[in-house]
Amino acid sequence: MTQLGTLYVISAPSGAGKTSLVKALLAQDTQVRVSVSHTTRPIRPGETDGKDYNFVTMETFDAEIQKGQFLEYANVFTNKYGTSRIWVEEQLSQGMDVILEIDWQGAQQVRQQMPDCVSLFILPPSITELRKRLTGRGTDSEETINHRMSEALNEIRHYREYQYLLVNDNFDTALQELQSVFTARRLELRRQQQKHAAMLTGLLSE
Ligand code: GDP
Ligand code: ADP
Ligand code: 5GP
Repeated sequence: MTQLGTLYVISAPSGAGKTSLVKALLAQDTQVRVSVSHTTRPIRPGETDGKDYNFVTMETFDAEIQKGQFLEYANVFTNKYGTSRIWVEEQLSQGMDVILEIDWQGAQQVRQQMPDCVSLFILPPSITELRKRLTGRGTDSEETINHRMSEALNEIRHYREYQYLLVNDNFDTALQELQSVFTARRLELRRQQQKHAAMLTGLLSE
């Protein structure tokens, strides 16, 4: 029997670096996939529909809610964001690990439905640095950046609800720390027992 994959929930204030960290993790880990959320926010320059997000209208989003298609959804800033239930369940049942990059409201809903998930919160080293990163990313208007900065504290206030807390100061250090969480989970006794069942039987029958 294939072992079920692990669901990872990652939250952070906008601009803390979660998308960059997850992208770097995915580049060297073939067992993990990231969920592509649905969103009603406008597409940014450089983003691809279906890859970064599924960009939909408010009407389509509401119809999907009615159909029960979302594992979780929430209003974030002035838009709606949601995670496809079917896609996540399919990946996990195939033994793939899945990452959700979602806000604290979504994280609360996922924890209720999937208590075995692993949750991580990523902090920026300071508020000044957070603004610098949002500005440096060059994808949002000043008005959007100001709005995201004003919401940052509301997101950060929820950090205690997560199992792991990472500070994304030096990028490579934060990436190594993120990888360590994935490695530790995969080394848990019950997972290793299943993965190495034949070897363990062999060892013990010597
Ligand atoms: P970013 O924070 O700069 O990457 O900006 P985004 O516009 O990509 O994301 C905005 C917010 O929406 C973030 O706080 C995400 O965590 C959250 N978000 C993205 N996708 C989802 C989702 O599927 N569900 C929920 N609940 N939140 C999401
Ligand atoms: P989020 O997905 O949390 O909104 P991003 O991954 O888009 O954040 O990162 C925001 C900006 O900060 C990007 O321009 C990214 O290149 C930059 N960034 C991410 N991590 C670091 C870091 N450790 N040091 C400096 N800049 C960073
Ligand atoms: P952005 O619009 O900058 O890509 O994302 C803004 C915020 O929305 C991020 O902090 C991100 O975590 C959150 N977000 C993105 N997708 C989802 C989602 O599917 N569900 C929830 N709850 N939040 C999401």
